[in-house]
Amino acid sequence: MLSDNLEKVKARIQAACKRVGRNPDEITLVCVTKGVGVEKIREIIGLGILDIGENRIQEARLKYDLLAGIERRVRWHLVGHLQKNKAKYAVRIFDLIHSVDSWELACVINREAAKIGKPQAILIEVNISGETTKFGLKPQDTLPLTREILNLGNLKLSGLMTIAPIVDNPEKARPYFRMLRELRDKINQQLTTSPSTWLGASHPPLDLARGKLSALSMGMSQDFEVAIEEGANLVRIGRAIFNPRNQ
Ligand SMILES: *Cc1c(COP(=O)(O)O)cnc(C)c1O
Repeated sequence: MLSDNLEKVKARIQAACKRVGRNPDEITLVCVTKGVGVEKIREIIGLGILDIGENRIQEARLKYDLLAGIERRVRWHLVGHLQKNKAKYAVRIFDLIHSVDSWELACVINREAAKIGKPQAILIEVNISGETTKFGLKPQDTLPLTREILNLGNLKLSGLMTIAPIVDNPEKARPYFRMLRELRDKINQQLTTSPSTWLGASHPPLDLARGKLSALSMGMSQDFEVAIEEGANLVRIGRAIFNPRNQ
């Protein structure tokens, strides 16, 4: 049952927080609903989930049209790669775009957001493992892009996102999560201005202690506990909630 799966995931999040002395309220659970039907999404929203993640624009548009009118409180997260020619749809739907990985894409999103008068919250996707199959910026290119994005008036850069390599043991993903946290901290040390947080005024801030890049979107069904131990504050979880037997 969906509610049992969700409770188990929440309990695992809490346990991971406890191990490292973190407050579970710092963690936003983004339910990744790619391939999941609208009825199931409605059900998960009914169970109190307000953060929904999708990875393809086409699929997200259909679901958004079916759900947005009913569930206005839901925050939509784009976790998959975004093509420039789809940016205009992305800014209409998504509260947070996790996958900005080039200056050109940032510029297009900024322009489309300006057209509809929206401050668009984004994360920079970093290819922290260097795998050639992955999207994302090289770690060393992240600070320069951060500085450039701060000049784009309709973007609110809130932090970093990564996808860890698929490994047989989640412990093997730990070094990559740690590297993303260290990269964020290094960037924050070097920034002189403060980008705002992605959350709207009606939501509590993720972590404004630093006043700089706060968000770390990392951890999926296979490795979210390790990611939390390493500082994740957004975890993107699909299978563990919707399809636990196939994990
Ligand atoms: C599918 C997906 C997830 C969720 O993965 P699960 O293994 O189903 O938890 C998280 N992030 C991204 C970018 C995804 O595409």
